[in-house]
Amino acid sequence: MSYNIAVDGPAGAGKSTIAKLVAKKKGIIYVDTGAMYRAMALFMIRENVDPKDQEAIIAKCADANVTLGQEDGQQVVYLNGENVNGLIRTEAVGIMASTISVIGEVRAKLVEKQQALAKTTDLIMDGRDIGTVVLPNANLKIYLTASSEVRAKRRFDELIAKGQKCDFAQIKADIEERDYRDMHREISPLKQADDAILVDTSYMTIDEVVEKILALAEEN
Ligand code: C5P
Repeated sequence: MSYNIAVDGPAGAGKSTIAKLVAKKKGIIYVDTGAMYRAMALFMIRENVDPKDQEAIIAKCADANVTLGQEDGQQVVYLNGENVNGLIRTEAVGIMASTISVIGEVRAKLVEKQQALAKTTDLIMDGRDIGTVVLPNANLKIYLTASSEVRAKRRFDELIAKGQKCDFAQIKADIEERDYRDMHREISPLKQADDAILVDTSYMTIDEVVEKILALAEEN
């Protein structure tokens, strides 16, 4: 049996930063499921699909093969064989990802791959529905959160560091809109699993959060 840690939470809570560090310390693989939704979103943007046209998205979905691999210890997401890691971290792709992820057919296609990987691999996987839907029997479930103010500030600092022009109020509004959509969608909404441990990172350092999860992993 493989060892699985599930991490869920809203955008900007620190899931990927924390999960990557925990993976390294424990010598397990980190799987970012958001990257799979983002790769699918990139495909839809490239195909000029109307985000409101669910039928078109479902039809197009069949032409998009989203797969994961590892290169130099880093997760790589491939869209029909193309490494798209460098193309999926924009706000536009994030918004499209949260729009298409409400569709059951899109989710089913990606969840199947996530479950198959977790079955055979020791990993820490992050997303929105990992503890509730993808890995209901995970050894450890964490629900990572932080206030929207703090999360928007983190995203703002990240974009500024990358040299991108951005507006704090707009980022905060986008994050809140994305949270609302993720938490209120009919299928697999973002919520804390009953057996998940809540970790609020608003006033914790990255090291403190990593230490806390490693300690929990020792017990589970
Ligand atoms: O985590 P990230 O911000 O990269 O995810 C982009 C979007 O993909 C999220 O806002 C969410 O709508 C969707 N997503 C999801 N289920 C997951 C991971 C991501 O619905 N397991």
